[in-house]
Amino acid sequence: MTPGAITFYWGVRGPIEGLNHHTIFLPDRSEEAYTDLARGRLPETPAFYLSIPSKSDPTLAPPGNSTVFALVPVPTLSAMGADTDWPKIVARTRQRVLDRLAREGVRLDPSRFAVEDAFSPREWQDRFGAYDGSAFGAAHTLFRLGPFRAPNRDPHIRGLYYVGASTVPGTGLPLVVLGGAMTAVRLRDDWSEGREPTGPGSGEDAREGGASP
Ligand SMILES: Cc1cc2nc3c(=O)[nH]c(=O)nc-3n(C[C@H](O)[C@H](O)[C@H](O)COP(=O)(O)OP(=O)(O)OC[C@H]3O[C@@H](n4cnc5c(N)ncnc54)[C@H](O)[C@@H]3O)c2cc1C
Repeated sequence: MTPGAITFYWGVRGPIEGLNHHTIFLPDRSEEAYTDLARGRLPETPAFYLSIPSKSDPTLAPPGNSTVFALVPVPTLSAMGADTDWPKIVARTRQRVLDRLAREGVRLDPSRFAVEDAFSPREWQDRFGAYDGSAFGAAHTLFRLGPFRAPNRDPHIRGLYYVGASTVPGTGLPLVVLGGAMTAVRLRDDWSEGREPTGPGSGEDAREGGASP
């Protein structure tokens, strides 16, 4: 699976100087940080993405104020273990993000936060059904790509189809939308007049993965 994410949502009084809409902050020691993430450990200095949507569209905040979103990749729920104290990790991660911003010369004092919310992988699972708290579903590793990725037509149960990040072609909004279109075309073709839906053992499913609609 892809990692989980801690996401922060801040409504900030006043403008934020020194950043534009999108910024990615890389860890101090990248190799160590990404290895930690892959092995189910919290990186000491995490990578994170910071977005200030109100920079591009000022109507997203009251006049003169700012909206800020931060996304910090963290291990999934199972990788971290059942007894993980997520509220504590969220608090620590928040501090690390704010410390890093301060180090980069971005002034974002929490006393300016008019609104604040945060989701850990647990909230992503409980509120949105994200499996194991993973933010992006099945990873795009070699054996989860193309013909190896879960097909969007079930190979065993006739008439059962899948859409979404963990099926073909993959994760992220553009691929998920494309996958939805592929599934719709398969459904239409399978159920068009005079044609039986594909059944188990038909042999067609092996070709599903990378096939275009
Ligand atoms: C924090 C974050 C940031 C992201 N940023 C980007 C980005 O910048 N660009 C990009 O391309 N992709 C991004 N992604 C990835 C992208 O959002 C996903 O790949 C995509 O939304 C997956 O689509 P989906 O239809 O599989 O699942 P979802 O969009 O998660 O839709 C599943 C829906 O099903 C609902 N649901 C779940 N279980 C049930 C149930 N039992 N009953 C009823 N409803 C249920 C959920 O509430 C949800 O509305 C991001 C993901 C996250 C988590």
